[in-house]
Amino acid sequence: MIAEIGVDLDALARNAQALARLASPARLSAVVKANGYGHGLVPAARALAPHAARLCVYELDEAVTLRDAGVRAPILVLGPIVAADLEVAHAAEVAITLWDEHLYARQVASVARRRHRPFTVHAKIDTGVARLGMPYANAPAVLERYTATPEFVVAGAFSHLAAAEELDSNFTHDQLHRFLTATRALPPPVERHIAATAAAMLWPETRLDSVRCGIGLYGIWPSAETEAVMRPRGLMLEPVLAWRTRIVALHELAAGETVGYGRTWTARRPSRIATLPIGYAEGLPRNAGERAQALVRGVRVPLIGRVCMDMAFADVTDVPGAVPGDALTLIGSDGAETITADELGAACDTIGYEIVARLPAHAPRVYSSGAA
Ligand SMILES: *Cc1c(COP(=O)(O)O)cnc(C)c1O
Repeated sequence: MIAEIGVDLDALARNAQALARLASPARLSAVVKANGYGHGLVPAARALAPHAARLCVYELDEAVTLRDAGVRAPILVLGPIVAADLEVAHAAEVAITLWDEHLYARQVASVARRRHRPFTVHAKIDTGVARLGMPYANAPAVLERYTATPEFVVAGAFSHLAAAEELDSNFTHDQLHRFLTATRALPPPVERHIAATAAAMLWPETRLDSVRCGIGLYGIWPSAETEAVMRPRGLMLEPVLAWRTRIVALHELAAGETVGYGRTWTARRPSRIATLPIGYAEGLPRNAGERAQALVRGVRVPLIGRVCMDMAFADVTDVPGAVPGDALTLIGSDGAETITADELGAACDTIGYEIVARLPAHAPRVYSSGAA
């Protein structure tokens, strides 16, 4: 084993239940894009589906993988689908995101006509991210045309928030107002949804009919502020993923000797340096040796030097018993110490989201579940 990613499917399910309770009566849409935020698409989807009204993916390929694995839950594809794949999307019985009213909308309608069944669509409205969605000012007219198009079943309308992680922004209210105004004429039961995890936590008025939660399901707080606000209110999110590797070699260095490419780290004392068998190709950011820590035998040790493509270094001088073969935890607990994906992200100038989403799909994952 070079590295192992442990995924606690029971914790994943409990986080989904906790977020579903928080959002109720709004329904939970469970986001499993980016390989289930690195946790593994199919196992994550299977664990989450019983607790969610639908699954959300980014790409059609992810939806097809889920269908091929026997996942029957409603699926919404959040991202764009190339016209050539619309037949596949229709056959997979997934809902698609629609924002255009020109060529793409005509292509969608023509596939539905050819296949004698309407396409289920969620209309995407841009209220201030400038990423995907029709401009909110045009939305009432476009939505009216969608609703009048027999080839479309408009099941939902949604938008995405730009700054919901902090409470000191009026922009979330501006976006919500734009969205509600743009969708005012939509008849029920069209589902309105705008909140992701952070907004579902910090801005209850954004929960509407459904919340699209990703990161919180995986036990990672979207921001420090969400944790600071929600923990005292009793919202418990359990860590789901643990990332461990093993020490493969040890080197005794004299003071003044250097480690790795670019010689960015110099021993200030006689030091014992561990070689780790993973690098940036396995998802460890190249700058992790600047500030990140790991756990060996329950002790925090600094990662040092420049992370290589497939190897990295840790200073285990202060873990006297360390030997090759010892487990080294990058995310997870060892003894009384815990390192979260957020801590590792912050130490690498990024966020927990990016750390887990970049864990390579080829890395072995070990799933645990009391039900299995
Ligand atoms: C990724 C994504 C989400 C989930 O966001 P989290 O912050 O992980 O909860 C929701 N909606 C859209 C459109 C997304 O792209």
